[in-house]
Amino acid sequence: MIILAPNIHFHDDVFFRASARFVEAFQAMWSRMREAARNVLLAFFETKPCHVHLCFKMDLDVRRDEPWGRCAPATDKVFLTFLVPFMERADNDEGVIGVIAHELAHCHNHATGKYVADEDAEEKQVSELLASWGFDDSIGYSDEWKAAVEMWRACRELSFGQHTEKQLFGVA
Ligand SMILES: [Zn+2]
Repeated sequence: MIILAPNIHFHDDVFFRASARFVEAFQAMWSRMREAARNVLLAFFETKPCHVHLCFKMDLDVRRDEPWGRCAPATDKVFLTFLVPFMERADNDEGVIGVIAHELAHCHNHATGKYVADEDAEEKQVSELLASWGFDDSIGYSDEWKAAVEMWRACRELSFGQHTEKQLFGVA
């Protein structure tokens, strides 16, 4: 496990390549984030430590496009999960940085009481917050990308297929 910042724990023990990229992108993002925002997050994670996991599949819910990241607060901690093939294969470093910042923006909204349960409204205010922080998470989806993810998974199912979001949250 790697401590990325006080109370931000990164579980890096399964996916080495994706983990290396995640750490690099996280550090770039964290150093660019405004100090005020960082302080809000650090205070929040003091009460709810943040645990970051990389997942073979983001299957906690079913939606048209598999998410690249997710912020899932629990009673005593906050889980951030990210899709491994995205971390490994996305060709746009800025996009990877933006996706990590996006999930932290959800945490920021939880911390400041601005979080709203309505997903569209929450995503809209996260986009605005992200833009104000100077990050861009607008990496596009394509059929090609989806096919590449499935190909990535097909080759690794036997070795890593158990490391899904559902398994992590104990709902598999
Ligand atoms: Zn979001």
